[in-house]
Amino acid sequence: MGKAASLTTLSAERFAANFAEAEPGLTVKSAVEEANRCLYCYDAPCIKACPTGINIPSFIKRIATGNLKGSATTIMDSNPVGASCARVCPTEELCEGACVLNDASEPIRIGLLQRYATDWAIKSGKPLFQAGTPNGKKVAVVGGGPAGLSAARELARDGFEVVVYEARELAGGLDTYGIVSFRLPQPISLWEVEQVEKLGVTIKTGVKVGADVPPSELLEQYDAVVLAAGMGYVPKLGIEGEDLEGVYDAIRFVEATKTAAPDVKLEGARVAVIGAGNTAIDAATCSVRLGAGNVKMVYRRTREEMTAYEFEYEFAKQEGVEFSWLTAPVRIIGDKSGKVTHLECVKMALSPEAGRDGRRLPVPIEDSEFLLPVDAVIVAIGQTRHTGLIEAFGLEHERGVVKIDPATRRTSHPKVYAAGDIVFGGGQGEAMVVSAAQQGKEAAHAISRHFSVTQQTIAI
Ligand SMILES: Cc1cc2nc3c(=O)[nH]c(=O)nc-3n(C[C@H](O)[C@H](O)[C@H](O)COP(=O)(O)OP(=O)(O)OC[C@H]3O[C@@H](n4cnc5c(N)ncnc54)[C@H](O)[C@@H]3O)c2cc1C
Ligand code: SF4
Repeated sequence: MGKAASLTTLSAERFAANFAEAEPGLTVKSAVEEANRCLYCYDAPCIKACPTGINIPSFIKRIATGNLKGSATTIMDSNPVGASCARVCPTEELCEGACVLNDASEPIRIGLLQRYATDWAIKSGKPLFQAGTPNGKKVAVVGGGPAGLSAARELARDGFEVVVYEARELAGGLDTYGIVSFRLPQPISLWEVEQVEKLGVTIKTGVKVGADVPPSELLEQYDAVVLAAGMGYVPKLGIEGEDLEGVYDAIRFVEATKTAAPDVKLEGARVAVIGAGNTAIDAATCSVRLGAGNVKMVYRRTREEMTAYEFEYEFAKQEGVEFSWLTAPVRIIGDKSGKVTHLECVKMALSPEAGRDGRRLPVPIEDSEFLLPVDAVIVAIGQTRHTGLIEAFGLEHERGVVKIDPATRRTSHPKVYAAGDIVFGGGQGEAMVVSAAQQGKEAAHAISRHFSVTQQTIAI
């Protein structure tokens, strides 16, 4: 077999340039012009299309009249991670997709206007909300990602004493560690974390529930628990060669690029990314920006079945990413030193039968194996589930997806509520930051209802 190429890492300067936020924000003039295009529709469809129900015409009107604090408050009131969502929401599928101006001209650029208002709030440092009068009840939140932060923020506004247990060094979940910096720089997510802390919420970072703190302790010490631990890293492919040098888990790979140039030598490299979802696109575009010479996405189905959004697919193509449809990995091959050199693949065809998820099943075509010369393989075939943690809380689940009553977000344990990616799966909903934020809010409001606490605080 061939020898692995000798590759180098990206310089710090090129890394900083390649991983800086890609899309420029609106200028004052362009924001006001854009805001003035809005028709301020009665019964606005854009509000209904936003999972957190932001009053979009209201925040846009406030931009048009120069009331940026009011605008940012309207956004953040409905969505505690509204600054991140301004950057990562698939707006074409949500608010902008529903805008009435799609029929006449261009939809209002709601995402960019949301970013304009929340950027003002970040720069101004002005507080937008205050904590409620203490009500004597304590809630533990497991996980400080969008779902956990959103629940914590709403509970604090209702006067609960809230402690967030976060396994990582920093809170923010995938907004802080998972979504590529050139779409979501880390300081934006950390500002949202700070907003929650400023309401008196304690965030205990570096504490993993189930390892450092037993779930039984939380169940004993708190009046309620919100489980918002998301999902895990990428599962194994289950093929030969996965432990070779140069084979990466896509989430860990992206994570390594969130703060500084990672120690991966990809300059000029040939990279194969296995999968075709959002994480796969992020891993592929990250590879391009780390200097890879050729990046191919290897997917066992066709473009029609890929789960990445259209805008992500277009972005990846623009970045020069290639797509190998109807292709599945068979084994990863390395040289004598243990470095990856080839990915053996097989061509696939779609059978007429549909699988459990309704999509046609891919089947290998006999004798169609071929070798792809590669220097790195990035695996992006979904995420593992926190089944151990869920079982340690004694919760009912289906293959790691926590079962809840959708009306209350209550699990099979009367004290435990769940929100975000930990309840995503089995064809239900979409793993999105905005849905996690909304579910966190819903869990908090259900807890407030349970203890007959009404929201006492208003924006300041
Ligand atoms: C690479 C990638 C790109 C994505 N891109 C987008 C995008 O562009 N737009 C979009 O809307 N969505 C995107 N998503 C999906 C989105 O990030 C998730 O749906 C969202 O972050 C879910 O929020 P969450 O709070 O449920 O989970 P997470 O964000 O995963 O947060 C869970 C938190 O819980 C912590 N935790 C886990 N176990 C424990 C424990 N035992 N004790 C204490 N803490 C624990 C974790 O450390 C983490 O901080 C992307 C996901 C990935 C992986
Ligand atoms: S649908 Fe479009 S035009 Fe109407 S309020 Fe929403 S953003 Fe404005």
